[in-house]
Amino acid sequence: MSSVNNKHLPRHLIVDAKKCKALCSCGYEHKIPSVKVVSTEDAYSVLAKDCAKIYAKESVLLLDDENTHLAAGALVSELLEKRSLAYQLVRLPGDSVATDKLAEQIYDLSTGHSLIIAVGAGTINDLGKYVSDKRGIPYWSVPTAPSMNGYTSSIAGIKVKGVKRTLPALPPQFIYVDPQAIQNAPLKLRQAGFCDVLAKSVSDLDWQTESLLFNGTYCSLPSAIVNDSESTYINHPEKIHQGDPEAVLGLFEGLLYSGVAMSLAGSSAPASGGEHLISHFLDMRENLTGIEPNLHGIQVGAGVVLSAVCYQKLAATEEKELKNRAKKIFEADVRNIPSVWGNLASEVEKQFLKKRDRLLQLDAALSINWQKLKVLFSKVGTPDFFIDLIRRTGLEMTLPSLGISKDEFFLAAISARTIRDRITVLDISAHTGILKGAAKETIEMLS
Ligand SMILES: [Zn+2]
Ligand SMILES: [Zn+2]
Repeated sequence: MSSVNNKHLPRHLIVDAKKCKALCSCGYEHKIPSVKVVSTEDAYSVLAKDCAKIYAKESVLLLDDENTHLAAGALVSELLEKRSLAYQLVRLPGDSVATDKLAEQIYDLSTGHSLIIAVGAGTINDLGKYVSDKRGIPYWSVPTAPSMNGYTSSIAGIKVKGVKRTLPALPPQFIYVDPQAIQNAPLKLRQAGFCDVLAKSVSDLDWQTESLLFNGTYCSLPSAIVNDSESTYINHPEKIHQGDPEAVLGLFEGLLYSGVAMSLAGSSAPASGGEHLISHFLDMRENLTGIEPNLHGIQVGAGVVLSAVCYQKLAATEEKELKNRAKKIFEADVRNIPSVWGNLASEVEKQFLKKRDRLLQLDAALSINWQKLKVLFSKVGTPDFFIDLIRRTGLEMTLPSLGISKDEFFLAAISARTIRDRITVLDISAHTGILKGAAKETIEMLS
């Protein structure tokens, strides 16, 4: 695997099929994403040249927002113009959210275009990827920040009827990276990316736990793919704060591989577990509370701390302490959905009911596997370890600094598991009776 910041190697496949085969532990055929990364100072010129080569007689939809237009979109559009290419620029407001409604509008605007180029991270990338997949046309990405891991993944995060979902969407054919643009990204975006990629340390354990309990789908390949680049940013988080080029580009590379890990797994499981549900919960509750969510990755960071507290408590729980309470807990959770979710309740309930059977099996499944699970649980870093890493990036990481009240965080901790059908550490913690205590402890640590 070559480094994306190697300026002498402008074009390469982001993963190597042979290496994947060697690292796979499940034996199933993994779909290897064919994303190509063009990382060079003149990446946008290469993009325009490629575009002229393939789409000279067709038209292209260029998607950006107010912020990413300044960072890169303006230059990309200028270069397309210079080559007399037909394109339509759609510039969204800077605070846009990737909703099904907005996706529909962009879908309509994409009529007659042969390619979508999206300039930006989170929302812009999700929308560009999702709409081009729907439309059945290729997608090219121009990243502007190392803020999240969605560039290379085969899913798009879209709010559907108010519920945050991860929907299948083909990854981009090409990613055009100007290393300078990534390095220049605001500190807050770099901190968000750091927390997003840190999630792997707990989400991979969530996946192993669900796999051991129910479906045996775990594979060590996705995690191994990310390991290679981890040392460049995990060992020196303060360098993310300082804007050290090697660390920031290393972080960006880690995020690209984290997205590839999801593509290889065929789901978001390797990079998104209970900690991500905390972030999704806060995003979704905006409609009900009016509280504007923070950046995805930063909210995920608070979720990582909660997951680590849960794992620490689970590792200290003895088998004899497990009680048969699956039915009682499940019924209480279903009863609580309307008060937490208001007009979103029926959509949330639909997602939650999908894991009903697995939740009801927890009584038996946990006690049979508890000793093996405890070995897994004890592998997770301590909450202090994660808080220290995050704070060394210069991020305060306290609930007040994130604009989250103690009550809202507590509610997120105990209710977020209802919004997705995957079993995570939050479900196991609720079942073993440690979740409320873990929530309170996390609130204390982040006060
Ligand atoms: Zn495998
Ligand atoms: Zn994420």
